[in-house]
Amino acid sequence: MDEPYPHILHHGAVDGVTGSCHELVVDGNNSVLIDCGLFQGAEKSSRGAQAARLDIEFDIRRVRALLLTHCHVDHVGRIPYLLAAGFRGRVYVTEPSALLLPVVLEDALELGSALNPSQVRRILKFLDALITPQAYDSWTTIALPGLGKEALRVRFRRAGHILGSAFIECRIQGESDGGRAVRGQARSESSLRVVFSGDLGGPYTPLLPAPRSPYGTDILVLESTYGDRLHDDRKLRRARLQRLLVRCLRDRGTLLIPAFSIGRTQELLYDLEHLIHRAGSEVLHPGLRWSDLEVLLDSPLAARMTELYRQMHRYWDREAQRRVAAGRHPLAFDQMTVIESHANHLKTVDALRQSPRPAVVIAGSGMCTGGRIINYLKAMLEDPRTDVLFVGYQAAGTPGRIIQEYGPQQGYVHLDGIRYDIRAGVHTLGGYSAHADQQALVHFVKRMRRKPREVRLVHGDLPAKQALRTLLEEVCPGAQILIPSACSASTAPPRGH
Ligand SMILES: [Zn+2]
Ligand SMILES: [Zn+2]
Repeated sequence: MDEPYPHILHHGAVDGVTGSCHELVVDGNNSVLIDCGLFQGAEKSSRGAQAARLDIEFDIRRVRALLLTHCHVDHVGRIPYLLAAGFRGRVYVTEPSALLLPVVLEDALELGSALNPSQVRRILKFLDALITPQAYDSWTTIALPGLGKEALRVRFRRAGHILGSAFIECRIQGESDGGRAVRGQARSESSLRVVFSGDLGGPYTPLLPAPRSPYGTDILVLESTYGDRLHDDRKLRRARLQRLLVRCLRDRGTLLIPAFSIGRTQELLYDLEHLIHRAGSEVLHPGLRWSDLEVLLDSPLAARMTELYRQMHRYWDREAQRRVAAGRHPLAFDQMTVIESHANHLKTVDALRQSPRPAVVIAGSGMCTGGRIINYLKAMLEDPRTDVLFVGYQAAGTPGRIIQEYGPQQGYVHLDGIRYDIRAGVHTLGGYSAHADQQALVHFVKRMRRKPREVRLVHGDLPAKQALRTLLEEVCPGAQILIPSACSASTAPPRGH
């Protein structure tokens, strides 16, 4: 590798939004990984080979630690393969993420690998010994052999995306020139700051406080999922959800919401509880009161995550805390039923197929790539009384994207190799993405007192990155706003002269 140190390599989330994995290379012998996620849908690994999408295809010998921004599978899903490749370093996460991570990985491995339960348990036990929980906002030192004790310090800051999510500030001490780190220099003089945004939440994310920008950075690796879109504001979105419920349930059919287990599901439940609480015994349709609206949560993972969200309510925002103090149960209200066993799931699908009734079903996976939502879609997509509501980003090539795109034109979709005509109503409700929109992304940068001189846009489709780049060029005049490709290196020299 000829680039000067430090530099950044991108092993994922460069050509799309999944497979997040960035390597901060401090010198020839030391680097850390930020996230190690799974590629989803049609998105591929940096080599593009379908078969190699799980394997770690880069050299990990110098990787000393793994830092995780949050527990979505597209950020953590390849950890087992990282371990299989020989990684034995620590895994730094926030305290809530430390609890979420084993649950997420257990689910991912049970669904997506050929491993048996005892092998899965062994991997999780192994991982457990490496997990190193961090409090928000406090600096910690990452040991790098051969470099000064404080050569690399990091801290996790609230990202407001999902429970436990963080953006990560890294401070690299001293000049690292050709792998030679200068030790013992005054910290303020020659340190390089790098911020990895992870996924950022917006100001309207229910439950969690919005992220606050860091003071400043030299290099910013920034997500751009919604770099070309604006979300509705919170009240408008809730009003649209209410209107959609009224419209979709008019024919007494079922409303299916494919939702991700962590984040979106809890946001939706939170807003549904609010609508039901506010309407009380008002009539939704003749014969159906709001207070009788059935909400079925049919996802064991989402149910466990919802439980963890409830346990960790001290991380909720003030509004949510106030509701709890007022005796409400935003994530466990009376109208909500959790469907646990697979047998009950099949029974519910069958019952709804045979005699549809006005109910809201929240089931994963969010992009319809697997999980229990598939059985509902197969059973009910061809019934015009059914409605499907997308509340999150649908990656190219996923059944979710196909239904979203072709559903409104009466198209079709293949599920498990069988063609289904889409006669159900198809709707999209923006904003439940738990992602910052264009304005929030720009504000994240704008509010830094010391603007980055290099911004690397990742985790987004090309049009989103291009739109965001144009805006950021105004916010950070003179800075390089880059759209990196897989493994292209950042070469910004350390700050300070
Ligand atoms: Zn995420
Ligand atoms: Zn993500």
